[in-house]
Amino acid sequence: MNKAFVKEDDDKEPRCPQPEGCGGPGVTVPPNTVAAQASDAAAAKLSDHVLYCLDPGCAVGYFDPWGASVPANDLASLSWPKDPTAPLCPCFGLTREDVVEDAERKDPSRLRDLIEKSTGPAASCATRTPDGRCCVTEARRLYMKHMPPEPEE
Ligand SMILES: [Zn+2]
Repeated sequence: MNKAFVKEDDDKEPRCPQPEGCGGPGVTVPPNTVAAQASDAAAAKLSDHVLYCLDPGCAVGYFDPWGASVPANDLASLSWPKDPTAPLCPCFGLTREDVVEDAERKDPSRLRDLIEKSTGPAASCATRTPDGRCCVTEARRLYMKHMPPEPEE
């Protein structure tokens, strides 16, 4: 990928508004997620383009490109990583520890199960997580990261 292009794109990206926020990037949140997670009063402060700050240490939940923000504590769910004790997957309750443990034991059954269920009717990531994203990508990344290296023979 062209570096100059990435940089330019990066600069145009809306940032978590300071001083209440961290100045970091956010992920765009679909309108149905905002409707489920933010109160009417909170949603009224934000424009149509709503972003969620993923920084675990930042108090801002939603923000928009024009500097409005809603604290993470005002959202319906405080999910991982802003709440380190929250399950990674609010739909099925799988935690970060579960995934790491499974990876270390090289047992992908719960991850496989999650991937399967994530496409089914019981998955409601769009309304149960503040960023509206399915946790499978993060669960997979965690699993790969914590899988012990193959022993050399
Ligand atoms: Zn932030």
